Amino acid sequence: MADNAQKVEELSESGRTYSPHEAVLEASRCLMCDEAPCLDGCPAGVDVRRFVRKIRFGNFRGAARLIREANLLVGICGRVCPQEILCMENCTRGSLDTPIDIAGLQRFAGDVELGTLAPLPEPAEGRKEKVAILGAGPAGLAAAAELRKLGFGVEVLERADSMGGVLTQGIPPFRLDRGFVESELDYIGRLGAEVHLGRDEKDVGALLKGGFDAVVIGVGLYRPYTIGLPGEDLEGVYVAADLLAVVGQGERPDLGERVVVIGGGNVAIDAAMTALYLGAERVDMCSLESYEELPAFRSEVEIAQGEGIEFHTRTKPVRIVGADGRVSGYEGVGIRWKTPGLLVPSNAEDIPGTEFRLSATAVVEAIGQGVRDRYEGVDADERGLIRVDPETMATSMPGVFAAGDVVSGGATAVQAFAEGKRAAAGVAAYLNEAGARGAASTKGGGR
Ligand SMILES: Cc1cc2nc3c(=O)[nH]c(=O)nc-3n(C[C@H](O)[C@H](O)[C@H](O)COP(=O)(O)OP(=O)(O)OC[C@H]3O[C@@H](n4cnc5c(N)ncnc54)[C@H](O)[C@@H]3O)c2cc1C
Ligand code: SF4
Repeated sequence: MADNAQKVEELSESGRTYSPHEAVLEASRCLMCDEAPCLDGCPAGVDVRRFVRKIRFGNFRGAARLIREANLLVGICGRVCPQEILCMENCTRGSLDTPIDIAGLQRFAGDVELGTLAPLPEPAEGRKEKVAILGAGPAGLAAAAELRKLGFGVEVLERADSMGGVLTQGIPPFRLDRGFVESELDYIGRLGAEVHLGRDEKDVGALLKGGFDAVVIGVGLYRPYTIGLPGEDLEGVYVAADLLAVVGQGERPDLGERVVVIGGGNVAIDAAMTALYLGAERVDMCSLESYEELPAFRSEVEIAQGEGIEFHTRTKPVRIVGADGRVSGYEGVGIRWKTPGLLVPSNAEDIPGTEFRLSATAVVEAIGQGVRDRYEGVDADERGLIRVDPETMATSMPGVFAAGDVVSGGATAVQAFAEGKRAAAGVAAYLNEAGARGAASTKGGGR
């Protein structure tokens, strides 16, 4: 079991770090393109070409500072960003041989800087308006940091007892070291935002009446879906989000030797790797999608495959089998899509004769999460995703903005971060306009 944990840690975390010499060599491959396409690939607006150039000439801290101007979470995004489908996908060097390892270089710059914390951006002149931020995930933290830089008073109200959102409650510690995350999140606290942990806030109207001039909702997705399979109530059946949250807090639940994970996304891969990390000898991943259709990031799929995780693609769960109240097996069946390209459960058709059974000591369902709470007065779609103006992230309720997974339905940390920044700009414009109208009366209703 210890061997497993060590192997998973090595693969997922330290195995990807550059030495200074290696970083300079990698940065030297950059073509310094005139119209650099890598710039369009970063949702947070990081100037990739300039930071790579700084590394090339040995200015590592300068590179980190440059990245941090656009994205405070330098090292975190260097670790978890799917850069192969963002900035690296666009890299011109890829057409010659391989794209510049922008992720690796960003991660390197973040690590170098962490030992010697760079000076923080100077907040602008103090503003009297106060903004409440619901949720301390990437979206909320980006909004908090930007608003502090503009001089607004900021209070972050976070339901959990730690900051970071999915970065600390979802992504497993072997993929994103918690000590590292805390140091990087410390930047946000140092910008002067007040953070209140253990605050589960649902009434934005009351916040506006209670002294806040604007609110940003960045509460993510915290209602795990379940399939409703026969056998779901057996001991040994887990929902991935809950499993990852307890492992994130340092617990080590015993899943036994054979674990089946249902799902094909990033959360399913994290659950499968976590099962290995916890000591499982065999992990099977069962997904509706084919290998090529898996929604998980390709790099993570390849790591999981390299670790011997067995993929049972284009299959559908039928039941979880039990003995004496505990999981003992899993049954599934092969499927084909009735309408090609429509990758939803209702479009899956069983293929007779492809039924199969796996023995299992635990089954983990990783089929997605939805919105946990609705916010009265704030328009949302039928899934509870908050409707916003995409330019300003303003909701239907004046003074209330939203960003991140609660808007997109689940994307990436860097997209949530970019939306949080956009929401902060939206809040600033709203408050400036309110100020220009001489609307000190915005308090008590945000109007
Ligand atoms: C297991 C897992 C692995 C992932 N891996 C990656 C990856 O490798 N790379 C990547 O880019 N993206 C990854 N993602 C997606 C990425 O983490 C999310 O898109 C991103 O964290 C969304 O940020 P957010 O701020 O919108 O929400 P969250 O990160 O979910 O943060 C929301 C915060 O709001 C708090 N909250 C909830 N309700 C309330 C309330 N009522 N009052 C106050 N606070 C509240 C929550 O406790 C949480 O801290 C992963 C997601 C999961 C679940
Ligand atoms: S596209 Fe690639 S090669 Fe061109 S500037 Fe960006 S990182 Fe360098």
